[in-house]
Amino acid sequence: MKKGKTPSLIGSGAGSVKSVTSGRLRYCKRCEMGIAKDSICIEVSIPGSMGSKTYCTTCFAEILDQTEKDIAKLRENLPAIRPKDSTT
Ligand SMILES: [Zn+2]
Repeated sequence: MKKGKTPSLIGSGAGSVKSVTSGRLRYCKRCEMGIAKDSICIEVSIPGSMGSKTYCTTCFAEILDQTEKDIAKLRENLPAIRPKDSTT
């Protein structure tokens, strides 16, 4: 029997991501642009720590694209593993 929920590479504590409204001026970890109070930013938790990294939405869109590429690459490198709904 499988235990609990299906784990995810980016979910359940391992770099989990949430969109938050900044309560104060913050700086994007990547481009170091200021994120004004009351604007949306993305918090990515750091596995194994209580901390998190803050990104602006522009940088996070790029990070998400890169994550998709990495997942696609992973699937290519693991040909035996296909999405459940794939017919090929
Ligand atoms: Zn940024």
